[in-house]
Amino acid sequence: MFINGEWIKSDNTFAVFNPANGEEIGQVTDGNREDARRAIDAAQAALPGWSALTVYQRSDYLRRAYELMIERKADLAALMTKEQGKPIKAAMAEVQYGADYLLWFAEEVKRSYGETIPSARPDQRFLVHHQPLGVVAAVTPWNYPVSMITRKVAPAIAAGCTIVLKPAEATPLCAIAIFEILQEVGVPAGVINLVTSNTPGPIGEEFCTNPVVKKLTFTGSTAVGKKLAQDAAPQLKRVSMELGGHAPFIVFDDADPIHAAKGAALVKFLNTGQACISPNRIFVQRSIIEPFLAEFENRIAKMRAGSGTEQGVNIGPLVNEAAVNKVNNQVVDAVEKGAKLHAGGKVLTEAGLDKGNFYAPTLLSGITEDMLIYREETFGPVAAVIPFDTQEEVLEKANDTNYGLAAYVYTQNLSRAMRMFEGLHFGMVGINDINPTSAAAPFGGMKESGLGREGAREGLMEYYETKLAGISI
Ligand code: NAD
Repeated sequence: MFINGEWIKSDNTFAVFNPANGEEIGQVTDGNREDARRAIDAAQAALPGWSALTVYQRSDYLRRAYELMIERKADLAALMTKEQGKPIKAAMAEVQYGADYLLWFAEEVKRSYGETIPSARPDQRFLVHHQPLGVVAAVTPWNYPVSMITRKVAPAIAAGCTIVLKPAEATPLCAIAIFEILQEVGVPAGVINLVTSNTPGPIGEEFCTNPVVKKLTFTGSTAVGKKLAQDAAPQLKRVSMELGGHAPFIVFDDADPIHAAKGAALVKFLNTGQACISPNRIFVQRSIIEPFLAEFENRIAKMRAGSGTEQGVNIGPLVNEAAVNKVNNQVVDAVEKGAKLHAGGKVLTEAGLDKGNFYAPTLLSGITEDMLIYREETFGPVAAVIPFDTQEEVLEKANDTNYGLAAYVYTQNLSRAMRMFEGLHFGMVGINDINPTSAAAPFGGMKESGLGREGAREGLMEYYETKLAGISI
């Protein structure tokens, strides 16, 4: 753990495993509620000094952290592949994406402009400015173990807040590596604090109930997000929630089915399906469903599962055995209820894969509303294809979910693209595009997919209080 500028180790530790082969790769301090309290106190003590720096001074730390992270890109990616499982090429891309947040907020914070507002009274002036919220508590997931951290830490400390972060228990080593970088560039003691733990509950309770904490920022499942938002409510703490998704991927018959299948397969199997923006329901207009499925099958046939360190592997392991069972249950349920299995549909055990948590890339068609996969986030490598006939029908079906994170539309018709963009109840819509994400763009969901946005100007404003002066002159 990293508290008040010091690395703290205790005898109480937990093991971290490589999900590709089950090997133990490290032991990490198992922090408790008292550690969280100490970290919050350290963040509170560091707040006056840190928030008093100019934005140029704070920006400088972030820019140097960006440079160091890029210098260490290959090492960080190798660590991520070992700890989280994604293929090395994808890990390299994630380190770049994570570093982008450091640089982008280093630049944007210099443009934290206020406002003057005309008053109806001739003797009055209104002045608006932004002030850091204070101590921030953050909880992050394992699926993107670097970028989910920098996209909270960078805007928080750029704005002048101080922070205590609890990373996911499956990926604390990546978190430690990022905090080492921030320490090496000289971020002052107490500004950034890391509490690793194998028992998140009590730490979450401390984050939600300690009156020093002014904001909780969380990325993870909708169930845990709701619990934390409830626990934070009595003190009216600010919360940002980046939660689960159930993305529709909609392909109209004026789109090229081959191009659309390529896009759908790429984004579906990204991180072995363990992404909150992963398409969970692939709606294809009936007249082009056959060529779409054929191309999707071709693409699956060329995929190779294995350790992310091996050349040519594009399907890494799932995070744990429970994830494999959840994915398999959804597939078995769908097939029992009449779905057609085109590829995959099984746990992979051949050639040493039995030591890891591998599931075959899977394609199902004929998905109907009574199947689990139609309603639940899969978080695994299963593509579920559903036929549709009209634009109105598919819009209604796509919106028929409590989730509202990402959606995708493939069409060559501009009017249709605009109508779908406006009609979809999702925070991010990829139009003929599978990656509507960037440090410069607001990421976040509607409905039960979350509250608030990360990245972009909106992501910085999440860490500011807006303050008004009304001045009589
Ligand atoms: P999770 O909710 O189980 O865990 C996320 C984090 O919450 C971990 O750090 C975990 O230790 C912590 N946690 C769990 N219980 C807690 C408690 N009672 N108090 C405090 N902290 C607690 O989710 P997960 O399985 O790690 O991640 C997958 C989920 O995250 C998926 O639903 C996915 O869609 C979502 N996700 C969302 C985004 C987004 O930006 N919207 C990004 C990545 C992942």
